[in-house]
Amino acid sequence: MSARILVVDDILPNVKLLEAKLMSEYYSVLTAYNGFEAIEVAKAEQPDLILLDVMMPKMDGFEACKRLKSDPETAHIPVVMVTALDQPTDRVRGLEVGADDFLTKPANDLALFARVRSLVRVKQMIDELRLRDETCRELGFDAGFSDITDDMLTGEVLLVDDRPNASRAMAETIKTRLNIDCSAVDNRDAALEHVRRAPPELVLINSGLESYDGLRLCSEIRSHPNARQSAIVMMVDHGDFKTISASLDLGASDYVMRPIDENELVARIRSQLRRLSYADRLRDNVHNSLKLAVTDSLTGLYNRRYAMPHLHALIERGSIDGNPLAVALLDIDNFKAVNDTYGHAVGDEVLVEFANRIRLNLRGMDMTARIGGEEFLGIMPETDLAGAGIVAERLRATIAGKPFKITHPEKDALDITVSIGVALMSPSLMTPDALLQAADEALYSSKREGRNRVTMSSPSVAA
Ligand code: GH3
Ligand code: MG
Ligand code: MG
Repeated sequence: MSARILVVDDILPNVKLLEAKLMSEYYSVLTAYNGFEAIEVAKAEQPDLILLDVMMPKMDGFEACKRLKSDPETAHIPVVMVTALDQPTDRVRGLEVGADDFLTKPANDLALFARVRSLVRVKQMIDELRLRDETCRELGFDAGFSDITDDMLTGEVLLVDDRPNASRAMAETIKTRLNIDCSAVDNRDAALEHVRRAPPELVLINSGLESYDGLRLCSEIRSHPNARQSAIVMMVDHGDFKTISASLDLGASDYVMRPIDENELVARIRSQLRRLSYADRLRDNVHNSLKLAVTDSLTGLYNRRYAMPHLHALIERGSIDGNPLAVALLDIDNFKAVNDTYGHAVGDEVLVEFANRIRLNLRGMDMTARIGGEEFLGIMPETDLAGAGIVAERLRATIAGKPFKITHPEKDALDITVSIGVALMSPSLMTPDALLQAADEALYSSKREGRNRVTMSSPSVAA
């Protein structure tokens, strides 16, 4: 897995040492010698990971990290603080400014490489989501990372530990400090059962379980389909880099070393939950924008872009199954006059109400789309011409039968009518365009003959 790593340190030999180690593992290395430079390079080069020295003149690593994490251009890049300090308070301070991990100098190679691999993996997942999300942001959505606050963190932590007293206290700490649910189990079967039943957002595993191999459990949970998005944090013995390295390679998201510092544990859980919530938001954005791309924002109906390929697919399916398929094209009568007399806003009100009435009067398997300004399409699978005629007549009556409420000083309701043309799939009408054209010709007849009526595409034309 190749990746670009930015190494930041004010002391040249430190930079050279890390650079050499990383290059021996075939990473590309960028360098910077102070906080300001780090931010500049990070913005311009968008590295996959930043290894950031803490003690630097002018701007220290904490400040640089804080700035990187609060800038939307760089907030998604994982940061590992590299420091000579090894105090829990420093770790916590680093995690609080958004660092993803801490390594002590001189960095243990095993821990360094395992950490780099795991953070680069996460970064690439986020990159993929960010890429898809780009269009969404252009459409006005924004999935910020820095504005995810603690009270937005939700979900459940599952603690797997077979030391009942320690476990109970830890669950209590997590609950009160993070204000989220935390359940505790003391064996593998209960943990997997819990994941199967209600996948938690985060699983905290004691790697030194008496009754079971913690690493195996990590791997089992990671490969469980329900837990694909869950974060896994391992609790390991101090300095046990072998277990750390193995867990990260098996898909653990983070680790804490014993003796466990409560503040550090809370900070690590918090940063994992923040990351999950960021990824969730990106996913939601993509989902919303896909929805936006295929729906009409005024009426909430599908748009033409969705309707045409969908119709194509239904024609294919109908021709294979030998089932009939009918389409109805609807065009509101004299709609221009509504706009001209009462204004565009009233016109919009009428369109929304029109769409609702149509939607309510078609079956669930039918599809309604707004394919033009005041033109709508109903697609009716498994419906023959007679059936479609009945439905179309019902739609016509639904519109003409009851005045449309409007918001206007001089009038509170309008009589609206619709003209409809219906066509049936047949050997000569096997494409969406041909089918719509036949329906359009029938619709034109309805208009010509006085509007507020249904015309069936004549079988002689359709045959
Ligand atoms: P006909 O009975 O022959 O269909 O006459 P019509 O007036 O309904 O048809 P025409 O095609 O002349 O006018 C359609 C009007 O629909 C013109 C346009 O301003 C209006 N329109 C199209 N889209 C919208 C919209 O989103 N909102 C509103 N308020 N009006 C729209
Ligand atoms: Mg029209
Ligand atoms: Mg019209």
